[in-house]
Amino acid sequence: MEEKGLAAIATDTKQTEIQEVLLPNVRTDTGILKVEIVGVCGTDVSYYYNVKEPMILGHHVVGHIHKIGELASKRWGVQEGDRVVMEEYIPCGQCELCRTGLYRLCPNTNPRVDGIRYGATPIAMEPSLYGGFSQYMYLHPNAVIHKLPSHVPAVEAALTLPLSNGFEWMSIIGRAGPGDVVVIQGPGQQGLACALAAKAAGAETVIITGRNSSAERLKLALKLGADYTVNVSSENLTEKVAEITHGKMADLVIDVTSGGTDPVISSLEAAKTGGMVLLGALKNQRFNDFDLDIIYNKTLTIKGVRGHSYKSVQMAVEFISSGKFPLGIMNSHNYTLNETDLALRTAAGEIDSSRLLVTVSPWL
Ligand SMILES: [Zn+2]
Ligand SMILES: [Zn+2]
Repeated sequence: MEEKGLAAIATDTKQTEIQEVLLPNVRTDTGILKVEIVGVCGTDVSYYYNVKEPMILGHHVVGHIHKIGELASKRWGVQEGDRVVMEEYIPCGQCELCRTGLYRLCPNTNPRVDGIRYGATPIAMEPSLYGGFSQYMYLHPNAVIHKLPSHVPAVEAALTLPLSNGFEWMSIIGRAGPGDVVVIQGPGQQGLACALAAKAAGAETVIITGRNSSAERLKLALKLGADYTVNVSSENLTEKVAEITHGKMADLVIDVTSGGTDPVISSLEAAKTGGMVLLGALKNQRFNDFDLDIIYNKTLTIKGVRGHSYKSVQMAVEFISSGKFPLGIMNSHNYTLNETDLALRTAAGEIDSSRLLVTVSPWL
């Protein structure tokens, strides 16, 4: 029997079309996911603004196992009906990066070098259902899957991947812990996830920065547990951090802003001697007129951070499942599959500048 479902296919720049798609036959090592909810990510927005080939976007995917082959069921430890959260990566599993746990950097999962990943694979690559803005998604043999308890509200479950980045960067890489001062530049989904993760790790003081345009998000950051906010449109970050910490400065600083190189420089300035600065956002820019000696003089550790590990996704699943945190307040817009264009434009800030977590529920 042939089964069909609906998918929102990005066919051209800033344009998706709802199409009926055929579900692939399940082999022993594959499966089909019935998508429950998908969170819209900044990466989806950048693909949406520059569609090169038709594809189904959406990679913060939560769903139920609809069909599964025998081998896949054994390998993943899941049965039909189980609720799961997907990672976006489809790594090869064999290369050195995969074998050493860094599968997020595996060339196979990098769409910029012919890799495939959820939410960034053209429909020309069969069986085409590689994105979450769809009623069903293909479970590739190399998919990375985490079980999720049924009591977690869908909009909170959709935060798993952003939160896992927070845990990866703050806990696993940044080693934030009791007594630490952490500065987070940028109050978007990633910045708020970092604030939650830093607090969960025991950081004493979490300072989050934003601009005039992000006043609402800064308020939300305080509700989620951040201790101080700094509006960098009108306040000097280094001076504020010195004031708050009585000159101690920050143990750990992360830049997750999209805008320019200024936050990188102020991050280096806000860090204490011996501190760590994490760079978590693409800039597509070069530094000019930058005094490199600040790194030498303060013996700073500077590290680029990208994505999450298996461990940090598990940490996020457990954090969300505990129900101890008011994560629901991060949810701002929930749309149907027919409204996928609206969801992407909302996430891009075209409609509501104070949007935060935007989600699509394909069965609404
Ligand atoms: Zn994402
Ligand atoms: Zn690999």
